[in-house]
Amino acid sequence: MIYTTGCWMCGAPADSREHRYKKSESKRLFPIRKNKYKPYVADELPLCISFDSGKVYSIKGPEANTEKYPRLICKLCNNEKTQRMDIAYDKLSTWCWENPEVTSINLNKMWGSDYQSELSYFYGYCIKILGCEILSSQCSLPADFPNPLNFKLENSNLILSICKSPTMAVIHPNFTKEMNYKIIGKKALLTSLERTSLEELGVKKILNLIWHRQIGNYQINFWFNIEPEPLLGAPLNGAKEIYDVPDLQIDCFDMDYVSNALIFGTTHNKWLAESSKEGHPYNQYKLGLRYATGNGVKQNISKAIRLYKSAADKDNVMAQTDLGLIYFNGIGVEKDAHKAIELWDLAANEGYAPAQNNLGYLFEQGLGVSKDYNMAIRLYEQAATKGYSTAQYNLGNMYFNGIGVEKDVHKAIQLWELAANEGHVMAQNNLGCLYASGSEVEKDDQIATKWWNLAADQGHISAQKNLQHMIESR
Ligand SMILES: [Zn+2]
Repeated sequence: MIYTTGCWMCGAPADSREHRYKKSESKRLFPIRKNKYKPYVADELPLCISFDSGKVYSIKGPEANTEKYPRLICKLCNNEKTQRMDIAYDKLSTWCWENPEVTSINLNKMWGSDYQSELSYFYGYCIKILGCEILSSQCSLPADFPNPLNFKLENSNLILSICKSPTMAVIHPNFTKEMNYKIIGKKALLTSLERTSLEELGVKKILNLIWHRQIGNYQINFWFNIEPEPLLGAPLNGAKEIYDVPDLQIDCFDMDYVSNALIFGTTHNKWLAESSKEGHPYNQYKLGLRYATGNGVKQNISKAIRLYKSAADKDNVMAQTDLGLIYFNGIGVEKDAHKAIELWDLAANEGYAPAQNNLGYLFEQGLGVSKDYNMAIRLYEQAATKGYSTAQYNLGNMYFNGIGVEKDVHKAIQLWELAANEGHVMAQNNLGCLYASGSEVEKDDQIATKWWNLAADQGHISAQKNLQHMIESR
């Protein structure tokens, strides 16, 4: 499902498909063949890995369907309006292919004396493909996402940098831990967004993201609303002519190291195929999630558990958290709260918000541990600060009821609003009830209706009943 009605750049009907890789680039990657629909065989071509299933498949060349985004922009925006952007990108791409071994890039030499404008155009192209990538990954475009048609480099919240990455594009492992990461889309985006355990992926709101694009021996790094990592090159901001191009120096054959890194879509490296067979922990988690929820496969809890266990052993926090849930609820296994706590503890110590929230809940309720409100509040706070809406909701409840803290309705409303704005239905319903009753705040049916409507739209039964009751009693 794609969440845009028209061209995301100008609003006209979207009748054009952007290439995931520029055609000029694909031609460099793919040998010309007489039959353009005949798939490339394993030895001659870049393999593609689908992150959804961990499946390795070969692609059919530059005109293959899989190499294009869906119809997300209009012909005018894809051609005339962005032509200069394409040219600026092509120049840099050509430079990458023709200079595989240099340690710095001279923008003046590559783009000429007006390199600052060219850099802006280059950003324009990068924004165009990133926008298409986000939309094709079942995410909405963030409200502050730049538009190539009126982009200004000087106040951009997207930063690009360039570094060398000889074998494949990877994200420095430090990032995956720090960011509490989610990977979406086929050519993986690393992003902070809201997702609860065992919940299906719907339209998600992106807060920030890291993305990479491989060109020859180099990778262009995309940093949207996030501080760039200097290890991956200085921000390309046009303030100077010459930029160092650091070498990532990551040994791709060191499994432990790479298992923490994010591996990208297309590469010549056969190692990718091997690693996928071996089981990249993230792929294992994703596959486990499919079996746990029966999404696209027949539900099979024991398969899910096996995959989760393998990923959890490799420190995948999402697998640890979901496996904990399976033990806690006794789904297909004997209930084992102790085991759940052990797993959530591991993930919580790595800063994974859903695990912190789950542990907090156990301490609040005294399930499998002795009741400890201080502990519960501390854990909820940790997760709530990271923007995890369930923890914001839970913490709001503690403040509203004065459990373990002094009752503070104002603070509760603040927390519920944070959660409700992220789509948390129970927070939305609570706010509706609060404003409708008028016992703790000034009664306001309009505000109550707004929150109940949002919850009702998501199928919340009490909110639907509350709304109906309010309409009938008028
Ligand atoms: Zn357009």
